[in-house]
Amino acid sequence: MPDIRANARSTTGTALRLPDMSPTSGMCPICVRECPVLCEIGLSAFRGREVLYPKPQEFGRSTQASNKDYLLDWSHFQILSDVIGARGIGPDSDKAVFEAVDISTSAGGVPLKVPVFTAGLGSTQVANDYWDGLAVGAALAGTMQVIGENVCGMDPKAKIQDGKVKHSEDMQHRVNKYREFWDGKHGSIVVQTNVEDQRMGVDVYALSKLEVDIIERKWGQGAKAIGGEVRVPSLDQALMLKRRGYILIPDPEDPVVQEAFKAGIFKTFERHSRVGMPGQRSFIEDIEWLREQGAKHIFLKTGAHRPAAVAFTMKCASEAKVDLVTFDGAGGGTAMSPVPMMQECGTPTVYLEAQVLRCIELLKQKGKHVPDIAMAGGFVNETQIFKAIAMSNLGDSPCVKAIAMARSPITAVMKASYFVELAKEGRLPRAFADVYGAKPERFFIAAPKLSSSYGEGFKRIPLDAIGLYTYYFERLGTGLKQLMAGCRKWKLDLLGRGDIASLSERAKEVTGISTVDKIERDAMESILS
Ligand code: SF4
Repeated sequence: MPDIRANARSTTGTALRLPDMSPTSGMCPICVRECPVLCEIGLSAFRGREVLYPKPQEFGRSTQASNKDYLLDWSHFQILSDVIGARGIGPDSDKAVFEAVDISTSAGGVPLKVPVFTAGLGSTQVANDYWDGLAVGAALAGTMQVIGENVCGMDPKAKIQDGKVKHSEDMQHRVNKYREFWDGKHGSIVVQTNVEDQRMGVDVYALSKLEVDIIERKWGQGAKAIGGEVRVPSLDQALMLKRRGYILIPDPEDPVVQEAFKAGIFKTFERHSRVGMPGQRSFIEDIEWLREQGAKHIFLKTGAHRPAAVAFTMKCASEAKVDLVTFDGAGGGTAMSPVPMMQECGTPTVYLEAQVLRCIELLKQKGKHVPDIAMAGGFVNETQIFKAIAMSNLGDSPCVKAIAMARSPITAVMKASYFVELAKEGRLPRAFADVYGAKPERFFIAAPKLSSSYGEGFKRIPLDAIGLYTYYFERLGTGLKQLMAGCRKWKLDLLGRGDIASLSERAKEVTGISTVDKIERDAMESILS
């Protein structure tokens, strides 16, 4: 496979001068002095480490992910529909309609109206800017919203005494905004903690002061195998974060660095988080301690690490009786990750789920606790959700209880927010306005329904939250119901491995799902013999 992205990537804003690049290096076959084009090598000669990251000038206004083909993704499976009977509902054509499919689930002990939730969105600018839409949208859809890492530490108004957080306006706002439209039954607000958050006592603060009862420990994410990173556009903020214990690059206390920043030679500092050093014993003790502090449900989020790390994670989660583990496959991404790491490092989602399922088989054989699983990493639609859940049924019901998403809900909210802004300014694309209307109450198809459900409260719903609700509930939810009804399954826990077939030998080899040309041969023969 030619490495066509080695020397030119849209994420970093680099390009090649010639179309017939060298497949090994990714360079133009002839490279000349008079080339005005900035390829990866060319731009790196000027900007060095900046070119490891998505365009810095787009930070806070964009999301990014890998565009590498990992030779196996959800499109390599086909959903097998049925024509016989109806499971999970009476075999009555008047009742067995797709709208009657029950797609509710329970993930980590939390009931969800839809089997998707929003994964940890933390201190990164894009999550901050769209928080109200994201949180309210998740609450309207009856699902969970995880508040990601470093929120208190990055909050300039946070009160921190003796290294421990006593108050954070941003954290309080994030929790309360979700609860404004939470029905108190479906979904919940979750606070995620990394090494920095644990040092700062964010877990204790959230449990004791904000009445949060779900804490998620973070071991990693699919986009990178190093800690969370953001760009900091102000020297004062960089200095504050250094004082709070964060790693800032370059060092904002260095006078030479300060001078270069003021001269505009670079425009943002990198803020990094430390990675944890998990151990089985210490993890179990930590989870016991969290329960003593009042946590009712405990989640663990990890990345796309090597198979032995997947097994270690499952062992720790099982021993500590964690309620939910989210595995985040390589290929996804969100706000700021080194692009080469995002492309080349970690186990892609389908391969990762296959490894997790093997671990579950081994745990089940020993009669050990199996935590609920959420898969993440590049999910955008209901067919992918269906396949990931169906594949995970190892007997009783699917082990994957929900799909965690980050980039796609941000996109739904960003798009909604942008088009509302364009509508206010009378600048909507003509083709859109002609078809869907020029006012938000017209172009958001769910607006009349929400207005009738919430009455006067409808005016308090941020318009971009309607975008997320519509995406989660109306699009993904309805799409999933259609697919399930097509397979004659009216309850989510009835989905099974027999509902999908592999389209390639690789898909079969990795997941154990038979190929579409061989599946159910015995059934065909027994029906006709
Ligand atoms: S510097 Fe050389 S390799 Fe890079 S775009 Fe120009 S010609 Fe191609």
